[in-house]
Amino acid sequence: VNHYISNIHKNKNLNALTAVYEAEALAAAKTIQAKIEAGTAGRLAGMVFTIKDVYCHEGHTLQCGSKILEGFESQFTATCVQRLLDEDAILIGRNNCDEFAMGSSNENSVFGPVINAAGENRVPGGSSGGSAVAVQADMCLVSIGSDTGGSVRQPAAYCGIVGLKPNYGRISRHGLSAYASSFDCVGILANTIEDTALTLEIMAGSDEYDTTVSHSDVPAYSKNIHWEGNAKIACFDNILSHEGLDEEVKSATSEAYAKLKNQGHGIDHLGFQYLDYVLPTYYILTTAEASTNLSRYDGVRYGYRSDKAHDLESMYKKSRSEGFGDEVKKRILLGTYVLSEGFYDAYFTKAQKVRRLIRDETKKIFETHDFIILPTAPTTAFELNSHNRDPLEMYLEDIFTVQASLAGLPAISLPNGKDKNGMPIGIQVIANTFEEEKLLSFSKYLV
Ligand code: GLN
Repeated sequence: VNHYISNIHKNKNLNALTAVYEAEALAAAKTIQAKIEAGTAGRLAGMVFTIKDVYCHEGHTLQCGSKILEGFESQFTATCVQRLLDEDAILIGRNNCDEFAMGSSNENSVFGPVINAAGENRVPGGSSGGSAVAVQADMCLVSIGSDTGGSVRQPAAYCGIVGLKPNYGRISRHGLSAYASSFDCVGILANTIEDTALTLEIMAGSDEYDTTVSHSDVPAYSKNIHWEGNAKIACFDNILSHEGLDEEVKSATSEAYAKLKNQGHGIDHLGFQYLDYVLPTYYILTTAEASTNLSRYDGVRYGYRSDKAHDLESMYKKSRSEGFGDEVKKRILLGTYVLSEGFYDAYFTKAQKVRRLIRDETKKIFETHDFIILPTAPTTAFELNSHNRDPLEMYLEDIFTVQASLAGLPAISLPNGKDKNGMPIGIQVIANTFEEEKLLSFSKYLV
């Protein structure tokens, strides 16, 4: 704990944490030390972790990187966090993130941007940017982020670490503030596959507080990490030739394919015919879900309330106008629009149908292949304030991560070298429904 606390102090300038639980972590360490001596310690005894500022932790603040939750305190602890604590992991702090997990650069936070430890003026990716940097700069061993459309995988890629989005429903979302409920997944950022596997194993499984969580047995991921034999791998040529794909990311990905081929694995070059539709579908559905999820922040029940209001309606309006940041407002407007009476069928219903097509097409690939391998993101970590002018440029960062999110499939980002500026490159592996065990085994083989 002292080691991590000292790293947290040394790296304050990276702005990765919004709260540090120094005294609590030291006290927990003492208690756990005694348990270790008595032989009663849990399976994660001494594992120091952080959580993204979207997770409830009883008696502690929760702000989702937003002004609108100023002063809010959680009344219960998220299931995934509680399960780690029950196994004697030690929670050391909360991570900065994009407001309500909306963003790809961690620049949309009321706490200010997070800085990538690999480069002074570089973003860490988002929205779990603080979580990625906390692991990258050794401020904790493991961090719990959330991944709706890439928010664990893309920052993991930008920071040169491992980032897992499990299958939708593998881990309970109870206590995770909702962004887009049919996409949101609890995700893990770590340095190694072993740490990722053990953390997943402990957090996963049924929970009476989340009706969408899977009740199937949780495999002993951490004990079953080994890969043998040849894999059948699919890759998409229209991704490799995509105009937004950075040349260095492209060559690192091609080299990974060539290496796998040399090792005897089968690499099939397919095309993904719905590539042009993944981002519009993702942004229509997630903004629709977000607009309803965020309607609860009305100045009455949670956090911030404007003092400029003179009646009930102006209290709602002013609290929301002053409390939400620009990106969140834009998405609420867009989501409200696609759900409005005259446009519902043209946008929301249509996007749901396209989501099904994307899922079916992706699932079909797994009838004949073990994995899909593609770059995690089209670029490496870009400079701060460089993508602010054009929102579409920012949304393009998610083009390779949203497919697995739309299909609900498990996917992982692994380090795959660096570009000429020393910025990490990530490679993404997607597996079939609930095949995290196979995904982790192959990932271990790859890294
Ligand atoms: N960058 C994507 C978005 O802004 C993904 C966010 C996420 O996964 N939470 O929606």
